[in-house]
Amino acid sequence: MQTAPSCKKVRASLGTLGVLGMELVMMDAPPTTAYLQIYTDKRCMANCRFCSQAAGGGGDLKKIARGMYIPSDLDEVVRRLGIAFERGYLKRACIQTVMYPQMWGDTTYLIKSIRERSQIPISLSVFPLDDEKYSTLKDLGVDKLVIPLDACNSKLFSYIKGKEANSIYEWETHLDGIRHASYIFGRQAVGTHLIIGMGESAEDALELIDRLHEEGVYSALFAYTQLPGTRNITSNLNIKHYRSVQFGTYLIRENLVSFADMVFMSGEVADFGVPGADIHRLLKSGEAFKTTGCPDCNRPYATETHKEIFNYPGEPTDKEIGMIREQLGITGEKR
Ligand code: SF4
Repeated sequence: MQTAPSCKKVRASLGTLGVLGMELVMMDAPPTTAYLQIYTDKRCMANCRFCSQAAGGGGDLKKIARGMYIPSDLDEVVRRLGIAFERGYLKRACIQTVMYPQMWGDTTYLIKSIRERSQIPISLSVFPLDDEKYSTLKDLGVDKLVIPLDACNSKLFSYIKGKEANSIYEWETHLDGIRHASYIFGRQAVGTHLIIGMGESAEDALELIDRLHEEGVYSALFAYTQLPGTRNITSNLNIKHYRSVQFGTYLIRENLVSFADMVFMSGEVADFGVPGADIHRLLKSGEAFKTTGCPDCNRPYATETHKEIFNYPGEPTDKEIGMIREQLGITGEKR
């Protein structure tokens, strides 16, 4: 018997509710993962600059990047999630957390409720916890644990979600949390989220991604989205920068090159370290530009608009690959 939370609600993304048949949503790319967030009407105790739910901000609690997370009946979402998994519509459940006093009880209640109804794989995105809690989460059925660094180096981390942001997080504690979680969950079972366009260089991002990859930790890339009610960040988001980080990440993830093989000039990629013919073959497959993260996570329109796609939720078309080549400035047969 588990103790019910004070309020039996869960936040679910609009796309997720569309797949579950709880909202009427027109979708050209339905989510393959159910995106959920534990419910609270309180603001998060942390104070990340980009986040709509930050302690000191005035953003909409329903917003995560471009996604709308609607408060919904927890039992009904869990019931329909079980059916959607059985029928193959949804392949994973992803739970985002918020820091507030009842967070642990509400999170474990949701995980247990999902597991009582189905065997859908569960990802949990959470700030660093202690080892006992990591073990409990693993025992409850979480197979992928994500600890979001969001920023690509310690200085940026402090500015975006640490001391300089009047927030509670520390770079070293987050890295340590990732290491401890990896020890308990195993290699390739722990990941992080990185938001591109918050002032990092491609060199910063790829150096970190390579280091984490060496430790068996995967990185999911997001494009920075400025939300109303959040503090301003001088963004360096542009599509060429994003594509460079995305392609470099793919090369590292597939063990085709490492950071040490790449050449940078003023922080930008001057050479990916693979022969020109291979680059053309790899670009053609389009794989590098699909959404990254946990298995079966496609996050449609999480940080994109119909006009500007950073992460493709499915296979990019030939036309889109042509556009990607232009964005990267790799159009000829030889680089
Ligand atoms: S990578 Fe996708 S499934 Fe994994 S925690 Fe992030 S949003 Fe969720």
